[in-house]
Amino acid sequence: MPYFDLNLDLTWEDKEIKASAHKFAKEVMRPIAREVDRMSAEDAVAGNSPLWEFLRQAYALGYHKALFPPELGGLGFTPLQGHILNEEIIWGSLGLSGVLLLASWPFFKVLQSGNKELIEEFVAPFCKTSEPNITACWAITEPDRGSDSINVNEPFFSTRGARGNVQARLDGNEWVINGQKSAWVSCGPIATHGMLNVQIDPSMGLAGGGVCILPLTLPGISRGKALEKVGQRDLPQGELFFHEVRIPRKYMFVGPGNYSTWTANNLAFGNAAMTLFAIGLARAAFDEAFAYSKERVQGGMVLIDHYFTKVRIARMFGKVEAIRATSRAVWNLAVKVYPPLPEYSYASKAICTEMAREVVDEAVQLHGANGLTREYPIEKFWRDSRALTIEDGENNTLCSMAGNFLKETYPRTAG
Ligand SMILES: Cc1cc2nc3c(=O)[nH]c(=O)nc-3n(C[C@H](O)[C@H](O)[C@H](O)COP(=O)(O)OP(=O)(O)OC[C@H]3O[C@@H](n4cnc5c(N)ncnc54)[C@H](O)[C@@H]3O)c2cc1C
Repeated sequence: MPYFDLNLDLTWEDKEIKASAHKFAKEVMRPIAREVDRMSAEDAVAGNSPLWEFLRQAYALGYHKALFPPELGGLGFTPLQGHILNEEIIWGSLGLSGVLLLASWPFFKVLQSGNKELIEEFVAPFCKTSEPNITACWAITEPDRGSDSINVNEPFFSTRGARGNVQARLDGNEWVINGQKSAWVSCGPIATHGMLNVQIDPSMGLAGGGVCILPLTLPGISRGKALEKVGQRDLPQGELFFHEVRIPRKYMFVGPGNYSTWTANNLAFGNAAMTLFAIGLARAAFDEAFAYSKERVQGGMVLIDHYFTKVRIARMFGKVEAIRATSRAVWNLAVKVYPPLPEYSYASKAICTEMAREVVDEAVQLHGANGLTREYPIEKFWRDSRALTIEDGENNTLCSMAGNFLKETYPRTAG
């Protein structure tokens, strides 16, 4: 049965995008995600892992460059079309979609920087390729700086002498990078390129940072082992190590002058995207629970025929629709309005991911003990959902940052 959408203005093209993305999610992503989830973290990133088959097919469809402009070879999707595509593929697999989204994110940020030389060198080849021979990651967190690395509007962030784990110094026309990023860099084990946050000027504290784009094949770069973790096992993580790594000066496209603002803005974009993870996964869990409630017989009838099950299903349904409505609005704002309004992204990420976890948890509960077995997809969704409130900023940290923005600027109008 076609899915009813509260947005009554969807065009024929929007609906086509939804239908083809859903088919891809169901037929290609679900089986591959299940397989990768059951592999060791090291096998999951090996050259013969089915993860690459997913990427090959997604790149061939152009999904990696959906939001990039046609002039560069992108698909030129509207923000709404980008949302529709991502909701469907996240429904297919939160982890695999994460790999795809991260593959493009750093190149999107370089595009937004407007730096023509870097766009030519890094973004154009990414948009031209239809093979997963160019993929990226974003490395900001460090062994000693987790929430600290993003908490830009707290006084400690600008405290003179506060040191990060990755330092960059200028040597002639090159930056020289040393240090280590955390074990949590998504796609760290597989990415060909990285967007890297570094510290340049410790006299400004953590605020004295910079952001560069670089190939991860340069001499002096090494990687840790892929991390074994409880959920999102089809989104690999691992450390990045830098020893006297030299990059041209121009690769550092953000400097200490606007580092804090850039970081807050980048997080605003990332956390708008996190609301997409919330809707994709919540809807996947809702669909499983609803289907199960129509099959499982207890008390002489299928679960859905019991009054109390109807109440539970309707509550889950309401949460799914509320997450989508919020997510579409916040995503639209984040893609269209620059500089962004971070408080919307941060607070919405917290609320949407918490609601998504409630939906997934209730979906497990509706499965009874079956919800805990590998026979049913819901146990993977449950494991996948746990990180939602930690990744891209732990929710309390994000809310405290949103509170700071509200305190400073509210009420305000979009610029
Ligand atoms: C699945 C997943 C994917 C990820 N992907 C990436 C990635 O692609 N790139 C990357 O760089 N990182 C990535 N991360 C790391 C992620 O951004 C961090 O885990 C997150 O920012 C929290 O940092 P932390 O884990 O070090 O926790 P900590 O910062 O150590 O926080 C631990 C607890 O202390 C609390 N706390 C922290 N600071 C304060 C304070 N000042 N006052 C009061 N309480 C505080 C927090 O709220 C939290 O509850 C990923 C993490 C996960 C789980």
